[in-house]
Amino acid sequence: MEKPFYKRVLLKLSGEALMGDQEFGISSEVIASYARQIKDIVDLGVEVSVVIGGGNIFRGLSGATQGVDRVTGDHMGMLATVINSLALQNSIEKLGVPTRVQTAIEMPKIAEPFIKRRAQRHLEKGRVVIFGAGTGNPYFTTDTAAALRAIEMNTEVVLKATKVDGIYDKDPVKYSDAVKYDKVTYSEVLAKDLKVMDSTAISLCRENKLPIIVFDSLTEGNIRRVIMGEEIGTKVVA
Ligand code: UDP
Repeated sequence: MEKPFYKRVLLKLSGEALMGDQEFGISSEVIASYARQIKDIVDLGVEVSVVIGGGNIFRGLSGATQGVDRVTGDHMGMLATVINSLALQNSIEKLGVPTRVQTAIEMPKIAEPFIKRRAQRHLEKGRVVIFGAGTGNPYFTTDTAAALRAIEMNTEVVLKATKVDGIYDKDPVKYSDAVKYDKVTYSEVLAKDLKVMDSTAISLCRENKLPIIVFDSLTEGNIRRVIMGEEIGTKVVA
């Protein structure tokens, strides 16, 4: 059997990418593709944890512009990530892979509360663990939740799955001469304000020497490529 380069990873999936071509909500094709790609790496023996965003349903900041109190909006955003987590769990389990959702805000009727040791045990048993409700606190993002959970789970890397194929010096959608980085340091990301993850998440990764790989996850097979050590996307390192 092929040997994966990484044994334990945290995959950060964006809520926005989950929309696919839709304006809102969950695209059944995108979520099914994510589930297949996750099964693919679980089959390689990789221990997989996932943090999924909520931007396809609700974002606290955009709610604030529509008159929703920021903290309330953030609570709504965190609940949106739980909806996405349950949808992803459903899709992964349809493929026969045992999966647990653990939430940072307790809602025991629908998911386990986040308990680090329990989550680690699930991983050791080959279960996919999806962490819902972000960090459980307003004014944070799911990127920060991803960095936090990755550190707590001792993962080797955060795989930040996006719609673009890496980090560029400027927005590649707006500028045709934008240049993609193969590698970039945490400090450069912060100094140049490169759009990777928010600065809290980057700082947390830097302090704990946790590498981040930013790559395009909508091309099916890319998650496996990254796991096998193929250098696609951009790696953020010290
Ligand atoms: N959120 C929060 N605290 C957290 C994580 C998320 O308040 O620890 C809220 C916040 O309102 C955010 C929303 O949940 O806008 C959805 O998360 P995010 O924007 O990170 O999702 P993504 O951009 O990945 O779709």
